[in-house]
Amino acid sequence: GHLSSAGIMTGIKDSFTFAKVIGKGAFSTVYEATCKNNKKSYAVKVIPKQKIAQDIQPLVREIKIMRKLKHPNIVKLYKVYESISNIYLVQDYVSGGDLYHRIIEKKRFSENSVKKFTQKMLHVLDYLKTNGVIHRDIKLENILLKSNDNDYDFKLIDFGLAAELADHSTTRCGSPGYIAPEMLRQEPYGIKVDIFSVGIIIYTLLAGKMPFQGLTPQRVLERNRDCHICFHDEALTQISPDGINLVQKLTCSYPGLRISPEKALMHHWFSKMPHKGERHE
Ligand code: ADP
Ligand code: MG
Repeated sequence: GHLSSAGIMTGIKDSFTFAKVIGKGAFSTVYEATCKNNKKSYAVKVIPKQKIAQDIQPLVREIKIMRKLKHPNIVKLYKVYESISNIYLVQDYVSGGDLYHRIIEKKRFSENSVKKFTQKMLHVLDYLKTNGVIHRDIKLENILLKSNDNDYDFKLIDFGLAAELADHSTTRCGSPGYIAPEMLRQEPYGIKVDIFSVGIIIYTLLAGKMPFQGLTPQRVLERNRDCHICFHDEALTQISPDGINLVQKLTCSYPGLRISPEKALMHHWFSKMPHKGERHE
């Protein structure tokens, strides 16, 4: 086949029973499938070859990057299969739905939940940095929750736009509302673009609304580029000054002023973690 690199197998239907569709992306359909051997559920991302016929390089990159990442909060790629018409990526099945739908359903999360989420996410950013990987599309839809019991145990998915630090282009990418302003200023950029997107997510979870809004993607992009974030919004009045301060540091318009994951993990907000049972969520 086209993807003649090592570790790509044929005959997925011999090993997996396909059940329902659990998601759709621009180039893919994701199914829940059961492994015939161990009876466990997996999420299988099916990419029709015709959709990538012109350029398989992005998919080869996605596979290469996913294979080297091993972290409890990053979706794991177990196997890759190929048939005449499709490529199949066999991943962990993360069954609690995405953060986008969860925040709409709950309106907003408790500060304590967001704090736990943030701490885990900063560890993920630190791990990606150590591995020289930029995700470039961190957003609510690409964060899946592990269960319905809490709002902070998650796995990061969709490395379709990810790049390796060593050879990444200066291509602008991501989703309006989450894009680091240096990208929109056409400046060279690096690992810190993901930190900005995470800052936007944390603001959204605390406030119950996104900081950059507009009726069209164009308007959202303009606000995103200007990067004026309102921290005295009514929606944030219940949030501690420490929480607000960290979000400010994560969403600095200039990457040089934006806090690093290591420094953020030492922020005051985390030194005041409530003890178990001290507060209800
Ligand atoms: P694309 O690169 O085409 O955007 P994604 O990897 O984002 O594809 O997957 C599309 C959708 O499928 C996701 O938004 C999500 O709803 C669902 N999905 C993807 N991976 C998983 C997974 N590991 N577990 C559960 N659902 C998933
Ligand atoms: Mg996606």
